[in-house]
Amino acid sequence: MTLSSCRRIVIKIGSALLVDRASGLKKAWLDAMCEDIAALTAKGTEVLVVSSGAIAMGRTVLDIGAGALRLEESQAAAAVGQIALARAWSEGLSRHDIVAGQILLTLGDTEERRRYLNARATISQLMRLKAVPVINENDTVATSEIRYGDNDRLAARVATMVGADLLVLLSDIDGLYTAPPHLDPKAEFLPVVQAITPEIEAMAGGAASELSRGGMRTKIDAGKIATSAGCAMIIASGKVDHPLRAIVDGARHSWFAPSSKPVTAWKTWIAGKLAPAGRLTIDDGAERALMSGKSLLPAGVRAVDGDFARGDTIAVMSLDGREIARGLSSYDGQEARLISGKKSADIEAILGYSGRAAMVHRDDMVMTAARKAKAKKESADA
Ligand code: GLU
Repeated sequence: MTLSSCRRIVIKIGSALLVDRASGLKKAWLDAMCEDIAALTAKGTEVLVVSSGAIAMGRTVLDIGAGALRLEESQAAAAVGQIALARAWSEGLSRHDIVAGQILLTLGDTEERRRYLNARATISQLMRLKAVPVINENDTVATSEIRYGDNDRLAARVATMVGADLLVLLSDIDGLYTAPPHLDPKAEFLPVVQAITPEIEAMAGGAASELSRGGMRTKIDAGKIATSAGCAMIIASGKVDHPLRAIVDGARHSWFAPSSKPVTAWKTWIAGKLAPAGRLTIDDGAERALMSGKSLLPAGVRAVDGDFARGDTIAVMSLDGREIARGLSSYDGQEARLISGKKSADIEAILGYSGRAAMVHRDDMVMTAARKAKAKKESADA
C-alpha cells in the first residue's frame, strides 16, 4: 500500500522527534516533514497532524532542567510550548502554501457524545477549507484525572473521529518487536500484525521516555481503537529526515491491518472510550453468547464493579479477567447488582419496573477481544 493511495491520513509525531532538550525545535526535521506532507496533499490525500512537543518545547524555552515536572509546571510549560509549536507548524506548512489550523482537545471532547460531534464538525470544516489540522491535547487545562496523557491514543481517537484510512505513529522505534529490543537481543520484529491478540498486547510492555508519555503500550491501545474502526495503523521510526517518504521507499515499519468488519460510527465511539465507568464480569456461557453476536443478559453477569449510571460505558470482562467487550449499560450500577445472575423475566419484580431485557444490548456493544493469534514474524537482524 502506498501512503498516497489513502484518502485521509492522521500522522502522530512524538515529542523527541520535534524537540531537542538543549536546542529546542528541530527545524530541519520539521521542514522535511512539511515537505512530505505537501507531497501527500498535492496528490489529494488529506493529512491531519497530531503533534506532541508542547511540554518539551516549553521546558526548553523556560529553561526548566531535567526531571519530572509537577502538574502545574507541565501545564505552564505547555502554555509556553504550544504557542511556539503551533507557530513552527504554521510557518513550516505555509512554505508549501498550506494553511495550518490548531485544535486543542481535552478528554471530554471525545468522551462526551455531544462534544465529540462538535469537535468532529470543526475538524471536518477545517479540512473542507483545505487547511491541515494540527492537533494536540490541551495540556494547559488537562489535569491528571482528566487527560489522555499520551498522544498515541488521542491520535487514534482523532483518526476514527474523522474516518481516516491510515494512522501513522512516528516515534523513536521502528515498530513492534516480540520483546523490547534494547533489553532482549532475541526480540523479533513484526512487520505485519493482522489482529491485536492478547499475545500481541503482552509484547507491548510499558516503556516510556522522559520526553514522551507514550510507550509501546499506548501504541497498541491506539491500534485497537483504530483497527476496530477500519483504520490501518503504521508504527515507524521518525528518526530520519523525511520519515513519510522513507516509509514509501520501504523503510522498516509495523503494519496493523484494519478489521475487515469495521464497526459502525456509533460503536466506534463506544469502543474508543478511554475510561469505562464500571465493569461487568460474566460467565463462560455469556461470553460465548457475546462472541456469537448476542446481547448480554443479566443471568450471565457474575460481578458488577463501579458506580456507573445508566448509559455509561462499561467494560465486559471474562471470568479470567480479560476484557471482552465495551458497551453502554442499560442499568445503573446499583440496579445491575440487584439483577445480576437473575432471569430477565424477574427484572420487574426485583426493580419495580420492567426495564430492558439486556444488561448491555448488542446494538450498544462492541467486542474488544481478538480471537486468535495472527502475526507474522521476521528476525530482528533480517
Ligand atoms: N501532549 C504532550 C505534549 O505536547 C505530549 C503527550 C505525548 O508525549 O504523547 O507535550
